[in-house]
Amino acid sequence: MTADAASSSAPAPASAVWWVRRDARLSDNPAVLHAQEGGPVAAVFAWVPALHFWSGRRVAHLARVLWSFNQDIDGKLGIRKATAADAVLAAAREHNARTVWAAREFSPAGVAEQDQVREALEADGRELRFEGSPYAVDPGSVTKGDGTEYKVFTPFRNAWRDHGWDAPHPKADPSAFVTTASDVSLDLYAAHGDSTDLVSPQREFREERVLADARHFAEARLDDYDSTRDLPAANGASNLSVPLAYGQIHPRTILDWTARDATASARVFESEIAWREFHADVLWHYPAARRESLKPVLADDAWNTGKEADAAFVAWREGLTGYPLVDAGMRELRATGTMHNRVRMVVASFLVKDLHLPWQRGADYFRRALLDYDHAQNQLNWQWVAGTGRDASPFFRVFNPSTQLEKFDPDREYVRRWIPDLDTPAYPTPMVDHAVERLATLDTLRVSRE
Ligand code: FAD
Repeated sequence: MTADAASSSAPAPASAVWWVRRDARLSDNPAVLHAQEGGPVAAVFAWVPALHFWSGRRVAHLARVLWSFNQDIDGKLGIRKATAADAVLAAAREHNARTVWAAREFSPAGVAEQDQVREALEADGRELRFEGSPYAVDPGSVTKGDGTEYKVFTPFRNAWRDHGWDAPHPKADPSAFVTTASDVSLDLYAAHGDSTDLVSPQREFREERVLADARHFAEARLDDYDSTRDLPAANGASNLSVPLAYGQIHPRTILDWTARDATASARVFESEIAWREFHADVLWHYPAARRESLKPVLADDAWNTGKEADAAFVAWREGLTGYPLVDAGMRELRATGTMHNRVRMVVASFLVKDLHLPWQRGADYFRRALLDYDHAQNQLNWQWVAGTGRDASPFFRVFNPSTQLEKFDPDREYVRRWIPDLDTPAYPTPMVDHAVERLATLDTLRVSRE
């Protein structure tokens, strides 16, 4: 794979720069459409130093996404190894473009980054203009009659539906780009992770295929979604979280297809997309929720610490707890970078309520391990399971990993897939007694309340 666009000594004039963020796609992308209104566009992606903190698997996937997008625009994408402010300013100067277009981000890191880009451009007599975001409805836009935000999901979802969203935008012109300087070779990064990664190289990273797969889901599999989405052995869910996290498809596009399906299953699916929008909205209103519990349920010193806590964490991370559903999920995560939603809830509950470790510890590991990692979704889902979030599962609800297994993987198809030694003496006995730990959790809650 090669993605280096040669820098030219006499750059082609560009009417505007498009700062590519989580939206390297041509379909349904209002930022690039606006940029193209005045003529050819220089597209630049900032390969920021913070990518050092990403897992090799995520970096590899990002590199493949950018590589594929670069193919789609005839090798014109500029990828610069710099902060966003430096990369975008350099591209604007290179093409003497006064205006830079971008999609707006709403996470704390995204907001800080776009503020820096705006300041750098303005100091240079240029401007940053926003069009669109990774959401059907921008965070902060759905409010109650008195202008305050919704704190409960169902009324938020209803108001979100009432608010509505634009129809998908037409595809941008792939030939309306000019070459811009690039100093990152994607070859280095795209190959990374192949040797250890069983599934992600096969995960689709081309926009055209992502759209085709999503359309197939909407047309052929959506009706069964509600009855199969909770079964980890079945391929009942959409698998859209990865392309959504990298911006290869916009939720508007998906919602436009699902709106044509009148079944209850389609409405359940739309509700899941609404959770994505709700979490982004919560983080927008409460940026501190990225680390702090929105509703602290236990005293700070109620959590396990020290060597035993560290050993328990390692057993959880390595899939050696002796609870098959937890272990299968953690092994799937390590091998593939993904985990079924039902299993994510079970493993997260186990960490917080059976091992008595703070949710942030699990969320940090998920950040390293998940291919679909998305700051708002990860932190707020962890808070949901831990009972500390907005409209969260109550703290006293403790997932029982054994009954969850009976209910959602009765034939053991999923757990056997990930634990080949399940029925052998090599597989560990349960590291804790769930019934005992559940009572300990409820007792700690009672003491903290008092
Ligand atoms: P589907 O069931 O097909 O759902 C369709 C889409 O709806 C998903 O792609 C996703 O965008 C959205 N969605 C579904 N469930 C949720 C949910 N609970 N919260 C928010 N949006 C949802 N999702 C991420 O995208 N990134 C994360 O970092 C992430 N971390 C999580 C951590 C924990 C502890 C838990 C319990 C859940 C997490 N999720 C996260 C949510 C969910 O597990 C994934 O979105 C889902 O498994 C993706 O599979 P899918 O696309 O096939 O889902």
